[in-house]
Amino acid sequence: MRLALEEASLAFSEGEVPVGAVLVRDGQVVARAHNCREKSGDPTAHAETIVLRAGAENNWRLTDATLYVTKEPCVMCAGAMVNARLKKLVYGCRDPKGGAVDSLYKILSDKRLNHQVEVVSGVLEKECADILTRFFKARRGGRVVEGGGLENRCGGNSTEGSNPSLSAS
Ligand SMILES: [Zn+2]
Repeated sequence: MRLALEEASLAFSEGEVPVGAVLVRDGQVVARAHNCREKSGDPTAHAETIVLRAGAENNWRLTDATLYVTKEPCVMCAGAMVNARLKKLVYGCRDPKGGAVDSLYKILSDKRLNHQVEVVSGVLEKECADILTRFFKARRGGRVVEGGGLENRCGGNSTEGSNPSLSAS
């Protein structure tokens, strides 16, 4: 999970939502990656799907592999884990807005699907959550992104609106 956190830090420095993942087989790191949705322009480029693809290069069945990820996987990534027949998932913090393992859905333990994945949660939970909190705080406060841009537009509108009214009165 420390390695996954290192990957999350890399994502942070690249302006990506800081989530990192590591795929381990027989005690060896097979693949490590971080979220690169912005850079790749690919909505599926979550850390988990990247390591699953890399780890399944020769064999799509990952029945002997463990995936470590800093944040609870989303619906897409949990689905990919079932499709990969992943043995085990270890994650850090929960994602109450998108988690598909414990929070919103329980895809990895759903008996209606043909494969279930062992789950361990809450590993280095605080560190995994803290980096996300810091990222979103920085994004809201500092650089101009969605929220900031909106504020600027609103500011612009209100000055334009107030000037004519001032000159009219
Ligand atoms: Zn995902």
